[in-house]
Amino acid sequence: MSEEHTPLTVAQSQLKLACKKLELDSGIHKMLSLPKRSISVSIDIRMDNGTVGVFNGVRVQHWDARGPFKGGIRYSPNVTQDDVIALAMLMTWKCAIADIPFGGAKGGICVDSKKMSKHELERLTRRYVSLIFEYLGPHRDIPAPDMYTDAQTMAWIMDTYSQLKGYSIPESATGKPVEIGGSWGRTEATGRGVIHCVKQAAENNGLKLKNAPIVIQGFGNVGYNAAVAAQEVGAKVIAVSDSTGGIYCQDGLNIPDVLMHKEKTNSVQNIKDCKNITNQELLELQCDVLIPAALENQITCKNVDKIKAKMVAEAANGPTNPDADKVLFEKGICLIPDVLANCGGVTVSYFEWVQNLTREQWPLDKVNRKLEEKMTKAFNDVVGIAEKEESDMRTGALMLGVGRVANAIKTLGLWP
Ligand code: GLU
Repeated sequence: MSEEHTPLTVAQSQLKLACKKLELDSGIHKMLSLPKRSISVSIDIRMDNGTVGVFNGVRVQHWDARGPFKGGIRYSPNVTQDDVIALAMLMTWKCAIADIPFGGAKGGICVDSKKMSKHELERLTRRYVSLIFEYLGPHRDIPAPDMYTDAQTMAWIMDTYSQLKGYSIPESATGKPVEIGGSWGRTEATGRGVIHCVKQAAENNGLKLKNAPIVIQGFGNVGYNAAVAAQEVGAKVIAVSDSTGGIYCQDGLNIPDVLMHKEKTNSVQNIKDCKNITNQELLELQCDVLIPAALENQITCKNVDKIKAKMVAEAANGPTNPDADKVLFEKGICLIPDVLANCGGVTVSYFEWVQNLTREQWPLDKVNRKLEEKMTKAFNDVVGIAEKEESDMRTGALMLGVGRVANAIKTLGLWP
């Protein structure tokens, strides 16, 4: 992040703008600019070599006026409490935009998970849950996967929560493996949702997706599934990347082959007949749709002038900073903001929670159909506001999300 922008200052300035546009009173603005609760913990675990490892963890619960707190847990060496506050705030707006009955939360542990064994990660996860246990629960706060956590992590979370309660509570976490109550389609949901938005935006902007060149930064769960979904709608994924760098092929990449290669070599690079490129070069490629699906702060005032895409769909949280936002808007590049583009993940998390509470398991086609319905509605709601306000879609999305949360707060009143 440039010195003047951190994820938290960005999130707070977005909130300020939405409050101003919605003419909300300063009390509501003040209430929403801080999280309701922020829990810091020190997680002590036995490492495989017998030493003790101590890790900082946090769970931030932003607002729950529309329902229980909901949001992922990320494992990252760089995660700070302020970043997690910003991400929790984004979750509050995201759930409101998707119109699902949840508030926003986020968790993080400062750890390089690539350097940990599976057993160490299990002990870390279980100890973390034990430390925040009293603030979790299917009607309090429901964790889900985020960066460097996955279905296995959620299985440990759900099991630890259940063990401490004394009975099985599958609805205490979402994004679980299907065999223990996970929903079909949850793993693919964020990536699929991004492409639903791209499809809608393409229609609105007269862009044909058949053979359209698409560039995706990141090849984790979200990036990979966005690539698969993009190919399903006939687009051509010409470049992808991971933390080691990117790979480019003008004729289109074979996504299953890239995945196999990454699983074998831990990198997407060095594939026959493809060109190795840097992550920076990838962002600046000539393409129709650019999908940043990796880190925050990738499109900034430093590279925004070199972006050649006609459309940017933010699969990651916070990949574009506010200076770059303005330039993209002025250049007429359509930007689908994170809180809308990637809300498919939490939407299917909601479906999973409903299935768990009702002890049902829905077939994949039902999940995908309901996901498409939710995404289409959210997309049209956002575009409706942006058109009325003559603003970019981010402003429209924030006005929708913040407005819905503010209405809930006003209706609930302030206790005592
Ligand atoms: N971590 C994901 C997000 O940022 C999913 C959250 C959830 O499913 O609760 O939206």
